[in-house]
Parts: sequence; C-alpha cells; structure tokens
Amino acid sequence: MNPSSPSLEIMRHSCAHLLAAAIYALWPRARFGVGPITKDGFYYDIDFPKPIGEGDLAQIELKMIDLKAKHLQFERFEWPIERAIEYMKGHGQIYKVELLELLRDKGSTAVASEVGEDFNASAGISHVSLYRLGEFIDLCKGPHVESTLAIKEFKLISIAGAYWRGDAKSPQLQRIYGLCFENSEKLNERLWQIEEAKKRDHRKLAQQLQIYAMSDEIGRGLPLWLPHGAIIRQELEQLAREQEHKDGYLPVSTPVIAKESLYHRSGHLQYYKEDMYAPIEIEDEKYYLRPMNCPHHHEIYLSQPHSYRELPLRLSEYGHVYRYEASGALTGLMRTRGFCQNDAHIYCRYDQAKEEFLRALLLHAKYYEILGIKNYYMRLSLPDLQKNDKYISEPKKWADAINIIRDAMQASNLPFVEEKGEAAFYGPKIDFMIESAIGQEYAISTNQLDFLTSERFNLNYIGEDGQSHPIYVIHRAPLGSHERFVAFLLEHYNGNFPTWLCPVQVRIIPISNKHVDYAQAIKLALCQAKIPSPMGGLRVDMDDSDERMQKKILRAQQEKLPYMLILGDKEVEKNSVSIRRRDGAVINHLAIDEFIDKISEEIKSRSLEPMIGAI
Ligand SMILES: [Zn+2]
Ligand SMILES: [Zn+2]
Repeated sequence: MNPSSPSLEIMRHSCAHLLAAAIYALWPRARFGVGPITKDGFYYDIDFPKPIGEGDLAQIELKMIDLKAKHLQFERFEWPIERAIEYMKGHGQIYKVELLELLRDKGSTAVASEVGEDFNASAGISHVSLYRLGEFIDLCKGPHVESTLAIKEFKLISIAGAYWRGDAKSPQLQRIYGLCFENSEKLNERLWQIEEAKKRDHRKLAQQLQIYAMSDEIGRGLPLWLPHGAIIRQELEQLAREQEHKDGYLPVSTPVIAKESLYHRSGHLQYYKEDMYAPIEIEDEKYYLRPMNCPHHHEIYLSQPHSYRELPLRLSEYGHVYRYEASGALTGLMRTRGFCQNDAHIYCRYDQAKEEFLRALLLHAKYYEILGIKNYYMRLSLPDLQKNDKYISEPKKWADAINIIRDAMQASNLPFVEEKGEAAFYGPKIDFMIESAIGQEYAISTNQLDFLTSERFNLNYIGEDGQSHPIYVIHRAPLGSHERFVAFLLEHYNGNFPTWLCPVQVRIIPISNKHVDYAQAIKLALCQAKIPSPMGGLRVDMDDSDERMQKKILRAQQEKLPYMLILGDKEVEKNSVSIRRRDGAVINHLAIDEFIDKISEEIKSRSLEPMIGAI
C-alpha cells in the first residue's frame, strides 16, 4: 500500500479518538495506552478491567456510530503538565501518567521514540495539549478532523495482545485494530483483501501444492524443497541467469562457511554477530556459517589484480546463507534460518556507481513486470547519524553515497520514499516494497551502495594513472531469497502460477482405459517438445487412475494445474486434444501441433495469461 495522504491520516487518527471515546463510555474504568494510525486505519492499546473478546467489537462499533452521529467536536486545550498528570491520576489512567512523566523528565524525544511521536512538546516543556471528544480527554498533539461527522467509513477488525511500550516485562494490554477509509468501496476492498489473505496463507497453499516440507530432524527454519518447489526455484534461477547474462554478470560459486578471520575483517562479527549461527570448531580454528555472501565474493575479487578497464565486474550467485532467527519469529518460508539469495556484487569505479546502481534498479522493475507485480516503491533507508553506534562515522562518504543513490532513483522514474534509520552498517540501502495482489506489502529485495568494504578488504583497482584506487561495491538481490520470494508469489498468484513457473504444466486425463495408449503418445510428444525451460520439454503428467472423471478434474483444479487434456474417442479419431483450463474454460479438439505451438509461445514469453483459448 503506498503511503497514505495527510488528510486520510488525520481522519484515521481522529477515528482512534472516537474508538477511545466509545470504550470510555462503555468501560469507564478502562485504562488507555497509545493509539497510532496504521497503513489502513488505526489501533488503540487498552487495559480493560476484564479482558474483552472479538464478540465485543460489534458493541464498541455501535457506540462509535452513535457518538459519531452526535457531531462531536475535537476541542483542544492546554494544561500545565502537572495539572495533566493530576487529572490522569485522578482518572486512574496510569499509562498516560507514565507518558506525561516521561515527557516532563526526559523531553519529547524519549516519549516520541516510545510511542511514535504522538505528543506535542519539546524538551523541558511546561504545558501539554489535550483534546476533548465528548466525555473523553486524551493527550495529543493533533491535528484532527473538525467533528466526528468527518470520519467516514470504519470497521473494527481484530484484537491482539500487546505489551505496554513493547516490553515483555510490562503489563499486557489489548490492542484493538480498526480500518478507516474515505468511502465504503475502499473499506470493502480492504476487508476482502484481509479475508483473502487468510485463504492465501502461503503455508496452506504450499501444502496444497507440495512446495516444501519441514522436518524436526533437520531443524527449525530450515525448509526442505519438494520437487514442485525445486522446479519453481529452477525457473526463477533461469530467469535470473538470462537477465544477468544480458546485463554482463558473471556467475560464481562459493562455500557456505568461512573462517572467523573473514568475518572479523568484514565487520560481521562486530556488527552482526547476534544474527549468526554459533561457530563450528575444526582443527582449532573457528568457522562460521555465512550470514551473507559478500565476503566470499570479495575474496574472489581479491584473487587477482584488476585494472580500470575490467570494471565494472559483476559477480552473481544464488548463494545459501544462514542467519539466526528466534524460533518464535519463524514463519513458513517467509522467515527462515537458512535461505538462498539471488545475490550479486558489482565492483565498480566511483564514476560508474550511479550508472550501475540505476541498472540494478531497472532490473528490479524488469522482474516485477515479468511477474505481474504492479504496485511497488523504493524505500531509501538513511542512517540516523546522531544516535547510532552501529554505523561507521564517515559523514562525507555517507553523503556522497546517498547522493549517488538519490540520483539513480530519480533517473529510474520509479516511485520512492526516504526514511531515517535502518541503513546497513556498510552503507545506505534501498528496500523495494512490493505489494501482492491482495494488498499485503513486503520488503523482499534490497539494494546497497557500499563505500566502506573496499577499505576493510583492500578492494582496489589500478587506474589509468597506474595508481591503486578504492572501488565501490553494489549489493543487490532483486528476487530476494527463494524462500521469501516463493512465499510472496504463492500469495500473489493464489497458487495459480503462470504456466512457465508451474511445476506441472499439463495433466493428461484419458477418459477410459482404451484411450491410454493415445494418451501415452501425446505425453511423449509434449515431454519432447522444444520448450525453453530448464528441463527442455513441457512438464506433463497423466492421471490414468480408475476414479471418476469429475474427481480427476477436481484434483487437477485443486493442484492448480494450468491445462488438462481430456482424451477420448473423438480426440483419438481426429488426432487432437480437448483442453480444460484451470479457470474452467474449455477448448475442444485442438490439433496437437497447435497446442504445442501455443503453449510454447506462452512459456517462452513468460505470459501471465493463458494463450490457449485466449480471445
Ligand atoms: Zn489526536
Ligand atoms: Zn552483499
């Protein structure tokens, strides 16, 4: 979801007040935490005298509608901070008291970082602003809509537990989530997306389509790719190989572990250790499973001297990496401990960096076009140089790198936003935020411009002047990792992969036993058809079980196979095939050669739509 407009954000924020006012009217002893906006609405953290359940949401919503109709105004006023503290104490609002005391003692930054800048004050403040909505008074900096009538469409959708100020040692509050939109079409669309997201859970779809399995014996967060999943990986790798070949990349292949000294040199042991697996000891030396592929690629760069004429050098590898993730955070293929990245490192001169960075950005756009990913934007993460200890302080180099990235982003004509914090320890980075067909947003691929590694690794080249010069390294992984990307695609396509990505592209179903010989001959012809795929021919199987035809068709539909070929007397007689697409369309008696030609074209062009029976 692209960033919302300011007026929509004000309406959502105002709606959070309306929720609080409704709850205050129903549970006068409820204690309120914070209530920020979200990308589709708002939430409020509340400590109820007795925990409520989802069944209570309807009642709260009715109260909100009731209060909204009263045309309540948002009345702003200021109080000395001590008076505000007294008032909140008098009303048992212990969380608001805590925030006010923080505000008084530490200034707004301490509070803002805790609760998302919802308070109006600078350090050393004496007054705070409050808003009254009906009976309910809340601490807030505003702004709001004028009256509750301006709050358009809203719906409360769920309740979750949330620790006060995100601290597991603090009391647990109940977080009520609500949606808020400018009209009912948008609200209903979002409700549909949320319902659809439950059905499209990639773990469910992956099980239905037999993409991966997990095993206790292997370990948590370490998926096993089944044949169907492995085929999707091969196709994605083939796509990457073709595009990278066009863009002048060279393939490399490197081991998944390395000695401790490499990670001291790279900075991973200083800055990234908590995300790494513990070391393995071999012959008195420590080895680590790699959390990133970069240091290995740098060693390849270092394996021979380089002149300015050889640059840029673009080394690519679908590389396996291992990172520690808390077991509670592991989720299917989305969050794993081992994954395989669509990685590459581009070693270039400073004067080539913008051009190379731009090419990497455009490569992302190319992949998204092929895969039918329409909504995306780039998020540039900038360092918060004031407060970090994690970043290496080289302000001039950071500024240069940021300028190069900004120029490249502008030249790409792709949408972008900038955000403070979250930069990698070796340079500013871009995340591509991509949205699935049901509006879920994911940060799946990252692009980084690295000006520090050259020093750590002595990555240099011999210039025209015969002198040694440092290089820039661009890290890029447009297709992310297989794990996250396939999880995303499962949701995006609802398991209906375009034919070129389908593990099984055609299922042959003979109507009875006497058609099996003909079916076998068709199968052979399809398997041997010249198709540009990693396996050569089409991926075909046959269902010659004794089950009823309807059941066979149903099974193929559940497996989301793009084409079924139904073969009976007429097809044998005319040397043809009858086709049933997964969307239910039926095409009778197509000559087998025509079927092969059309499906070849569909696969070759990586078409998102079926080309057989297309109007
Ligand atoms: Zn407010
Ligand atoms: Zn890297």
